[in-house]
Amino acid sequence: MSTSRTIPLGRAGKADLKRDLAIERERTRMLREDLGRIHDELAALYAAVEAAGVDADGITNLTGTRVRPLAVEEPQLDNYFHQVASNYASYTNPYHHYQQLVSMLASHSKVSLVPCYELAQHSISGVAVALRHDIDADPVTAVRMARQLARDGICGSFYLLHTALYYGRFFGTLFVRHRELRPWIDALLVAGCELGVHNDALGAHSRLGVDGPEALVQEIEWLRSRGATIRGTVGHNSAPVYGAENAEVFANRVLWPGDSYPRTMLPLGMLDERELQLTYEGTFAKPHDTPDTVAANAFAADRAGADVRDPSWMKRYLTDNPCLDWGVDCQVWVVGQEHWVAGGRINGEPYFRDRLTISDLSSVIDDMPPSSKCLFVMHPEYFRA
Ligand SMILES: [Zn+2]
Repeated sequence: MSTSRTIPLGRAGKADLKRDLAIERERTRMLREDLGRIHDELAALYAAVEAAGVDADGITNLTGTRVRPLAVEEPQLDNYFHQVASNYASYTNPYHHYQQLVSMLASHSKVSLVPCYELAQHSISGVAVALRHDIDADPVTAVRMARQLARDGICGSFYLLHTALYYGRFFGTLFVRHRELRPWIDALLVAGCELGVHNDALGAHSRLGVDGPEALVQEIEWLRSRGATIRGTVGHNSAPVYGAENAEVFANRVLWPGDSYPRTMLPLGMLDERELQLTYEGTFAKPHDTPDTVAANAFAADRAGADVRDPSWMKRYLTDNPCLDWGVDCQVWVVGQEHWVAGGRINGEPYFRDRLTISDLSSVIDDMPPSSKCLFVMHPEYFRA
């Protein structure tokens, strides 16, 4: 038996819709309970059938009819990597630029290289530098970088994006992790780097239509079951993409009031970092002491203006961000070919330098005062050439 009805959305008042929603929710809850009981009875029956040695005759539904199996396609990555190569062709740098950067930092007298989880608490007399790798698109280059750091005896931090095509794909509510994922994870773990999750709970919620916070938790748990020590996450994208930072999915990291659209539609503050045994969040975003809700909403609504290669937007993002304060003094981002950007606040003053090349980066460290924290943010796809 099935029932369906058309809801006349145009004519129904809000109060009617609210009442109908409450009634239907309750009806669904009761039906679920009934279904749960039926399943238990069926399971008991199957157990009895098996104990009696009766042939159960294949996979059948509740009426005994054989069911059509659920079929999904194993995701193919060949085309994906061609796509990544062509998307980043005009932005990517020779791989040896990464080697140059690492050896500059390793030999700089002021620098202590630390993983992101240590940058969160670190206080040293010189400059604490963490190498953050957000694996948006290219896990192959990420593994190459992790092996490089292992050879140099440096612990970098790498974050796998759980909504990326290289990671897996949703077929309805079924999530199929890609078969290449396990070898990449194993290679990163063997290299001894810090592994974390590049959090896209809001993307999973908004674009994929699943329970985004739960999708994130699921991958944290799965990576731990693969042997990874997951201490932290890093929010993917910036506030203009979804109207909120991905980090705001954690109750202790909501940045400004979420009482207006689109923030009311997002699962903000749903997860408890401590319950999940997470000790830090690697964007290092923190709320302003007194958030300016109007300015924050306006910055988050300007999706067209948000561009890491536009110096005026990037300056605002890094030095004077209306949505958040930064828990580090300076960030250095690679955003294109021979194109690095450094920005933050040094001695309370805005600091911003655009169009830096690899050889300029040691002067950024020189500009940093004692006891400061500097975060290098790199996407491996920018070092493919
Ligand atoms: Zn990202």
